[in-house]
Amino acid sequence: MPEPLSYASLGVRRVINAAATLTALGGSVMPDEVVDAMRMAAASHVDMHELQAAVGAELARLTRNEAGYVSAGAAAGLALSVLACATKGDPAAISRMPGGHGLPTEVVMHCGHRIPYDRAVELAGGRIVQIGNAIQTFDTELEAALGASTAMVLWVAGSHLPPGTLDLAETVRIAHARGIPVVVDAAAQLPPAENLWAFTRAGADLALFSGGKALRGPQATGLVLGKAPLIEAVRANGAPHQRLARAMKVGKEEMLGLLAAVRRYLALDHPAHQAAWEATVAWWSAELNRLPGVTAARSYPNEAGQPSPRLHVGVDAARTGVTAADVVRQLWQCDPRIAVAADGEHGFFITPDTLAPGEDHAVLDAIGAQLGRTSRAARKPAR
Ligand SMILES: *Cc1c(COP(=O)(O)O)cnc(C)c1O
Repeated sequence: MPEPLSYASLGVRRVINAAATLTALGGSVMPDEVVDAMRMAAASHVDMHELQAAVGAELARLTRNEAGYVSAGAAAGLALSVLACATKGDPAAISRMPGGHGLPTEVVMHCGHRIPYDRAVELAGGRIVQIGNAIQTFDTELEAALGASTAMVLWVAGSHLPPGTLDLAETVRIAHARGIPVVVDAAAQLPPAENLWAFTRAGADLALFSGGKALRGPQATGLVLGKAPLIEAVRANGAPHQRLARAMKVGKEEMLGLLAAVRRYLALDHPAHQAAWEATVAWWSAELNRLPGVTAARSYPNEAGQPSPRLHVGVDAARTGVTAADVVRQLWQCDPRIAVAADGEHGFFITPDTLAPGEDHAVLDAIGAQLGRTSRAARKPAR
């Protein structure tokens, strides 16, 4: 028997993730019920059309939406949304993508909403039409951009985006007056859990979420929620059909894993989690503020605009003898590696929501060691 596989057997170090649910760090960690659901799904064959429909119906029921679909990540959900809106699920139209000749393929986006993931729009044959500028957008700019060649309006959610863009309600009002669907990229907009239905309640035709961020489902999953006819059109474009989005297929294991993750997420005591994160941030802050040259302060909301606290650790290199960048680099060289979110020369951010039990101590000890003092004696006060 070969030795059991592990990251260590491959010479790869584990990472303690105090940064964020970053794809580059593996997204999130799956709870047992998610892994159990994947293991169950892996044990037998199944009719994939039937399973996708049944899982979609259950996801819709749980999230208070008309319909649901499991995609291979939120970015794949973006590509599928374009395909669905351009083709409306018509097989003849589907066969014309990604060229899209004669089909509406324009995707209207606020300039201030441009994100690295919008390349997925182009992957599916969508052409991005940008409105407004980095700071502001006017309703007349949206009106002027909409026409016969418009497939959809893509609206990106997050309180970290520029406030001068049109809000969702106004975007929906203008687009729907012309019969054009609005798709919301809400990939990282959990918590709060209510967002699973808030965007579609506010008029969005589809809302997209990552399965592998706060939901802690399989990393290669996404959730597409919304109007039944558009979800049908999404389904018509995807696997197991041998059509364009066959290249973004999702397995039976991912489908069951995401369903288990959504069920679990909706049953969580979210206020208790928020309170625990606040307590950790307050504790880290008190400990790190004892160190000469270190200024720690709670930061809210987080980098994705989620209502979760982080800690900003400011480093005055003249007093600590090391720069913030040095500390970030040294933490990454630990075993296990420790990932924090760099903030240039000023410092870095650490977050509790991606940590396993006990890792909050490991993060504090390692930072304390880098900044001139080991804080091993620093015990977290009992709550
Ligand atoms: C993370 C993210 C995505 C990509 O999500 P995946 O599930 O990793 O494909 C898309 N859009 C936004 C705004 C995101 O934050």
